[in-house]
Amino acid sequence: MMISGTTQKVGIIGWPVGHSFSPAIHNAAFVHCKLDYVYVPLPVEPGQLAQAVNGLRALGFTGANVTIPHKVAIMKYLDEIDETAHLAGAVNTIAIRQSKLIGYNTDANGFMTALKQRQFNVRDKRVLVIGAGGAARGILAGMASAGVENFFVAARHIEQARQFIHLFPQLSVQPVLWPSSEFQQIVSNMDFIIHATPIGMYPHLAETPLPMTTKLKQSAVVCDLIYNPVMTQLLIQANAEGHSVMGGLSMLVEQAALAFECWTGQVAPRVVMKQVAGSLFPKK
Ligand code: NAP
Repeated sequence: MMISGTTQKVGIIGWPVGHSFSPAIHNAAFVHCKLDYVYVPLPVEPGQLAQAVNGLRALGFTGANVTIPHKVAIMKYLDEIDETAHLAGAVNTIAIRQSKLIGYNTDANGFMTALKQRQFNVRDKRVLVIGAGGAARGILAGMASAGVENFFVAARHIEQARQFIHLFPQLSVQPVLWPSSEFQQIVSNMDFIIHATPIGMYPHLAETPLPMTTKLKQSAVVCDLIYNPVMTQLLIQANAEGHSVMGGLSMLVEQAALAFECWTGQVAPRVVMKQVAGSLFPKK
């Protein structure tokens, strides 16, 4: 990659950002597409966010990704927020056009695109989201845009799940305490089960949010947002029981691909991005 005065700059704002896979994924995509772009890590301490956002504009950046802990805090410094990002309550991608900073949430849309690629149809289906953090909120935002209206949100602290009733007043959200006997009953009637907590994430590979004995509807689809490992214990179990499953790698790649498309206006090389992403995880 040859960097010159005409190279377009994008980067990732977070604290810390040293562990992020995004520079490797995006730079490989830029090289593959022969685009004169470069993607750099931009470590920004929490107290420095306003200056950093102004810096993006002043330094002529084309855009940026935003990660922990700035996804929510950055919203007040942007000129426009797209509807899905507004619903998700978080921005993970910024495009800078005519000095205007526009915020998007490609996590939410990335999940929905990953579902579509697998031809999973969620409209009018019963959907349970396990976990009530930032990713769960993004999933509800993406699903709401796709016409899903009824959700069950399960959390170990019921107040966290109850907040979703207020966050999405246009939807019907039923909070569920998890684990509980009510949860066990509900989970066995769901069409889609979406796991959005870190249980089972590397290095805790043997952990699972559902006991082995849990019986699901035979046609139930099980999704796990975790991408490392690619097949979590939850997905291994569900797959063995004959369910369709989807892991978090496709969402990770899609959110990156949608950001790439937002900055470059070109179709992202998803196969290359997936190969790079899959090669970066720490292995057992
Ligand atoms: P978050 O905002 O920290 O929320 C995590 C949620 O999980 C909270 O509701 C938390 O409840 C719950 N939780 C955590 N540990 C738990 C445990 N041991 N038992 C029960 N509940 C537990 O995190 P997030 O951003 O939503 O991320 C959630 C997961 O999604 C992570 O594994 C992350 O890697 C994954 N993710 C994947 C992608 C992708 O591109 N594939 C994108 C975003 C996130 P408490 O508040 O009670 O702890």
